[in-house]
Amino acid sequence: MKAYCHRCEKEVEVKIEKTEKGPHYAKIVCNECGNFIKWLPKPENMKIKRIYSRNKNLIKRICEEKGYKEPFCFFCGRKKEELPPGTFLTIDHILPLKDGGKDSLENMQILCSMCHSLKNLLSVYVKEHYGKSAQEKK
Ligand SMILES: [Zn+2]
Ligand SMILES: [Zn+2]
Repeated sequence: MKAYCHRCEKEVEVKIEKTEKGPHYAKIVCNECGNFIKWLPKPENMKIKRIYSRNKNLIKRICEEKGYKEPFCFFCGRKKEELPPGTFLTIDHILPLKDGGKDSLENMQILCSMCHSLKNLLSVYVKEHYGKSAQEKK
């Protein structure tokens, strides 16, 4: 991969350095002088944005289906304008598609992006800590 390095003042080979903490996945630096070039976003952040734009109309339809006038997060109850900057309303499959859930309105709920990632973390936690023992009991 190549990019322009302002310190070397030319196109250079770059390397990707993973970052342990912070909102970014990794940073791209110049391979020759180590100059910082740009951030790489985390893959999960990119995914949420894609889902969001694909489902803008679906949020409306879920509200109509459930009989709500305006959308809000079904977990924390906050409306769009009550959410902190960088947080937005997303569509969540109540039963995940990969677990056999349907891609239909009845299996969808509205979650803000904070509650959405919380739910994802929680389901991973439950699977890791309780999924095993439940299987062992069988
Ligand atoms: Zn450089
Ligand atoms: Zn929420």
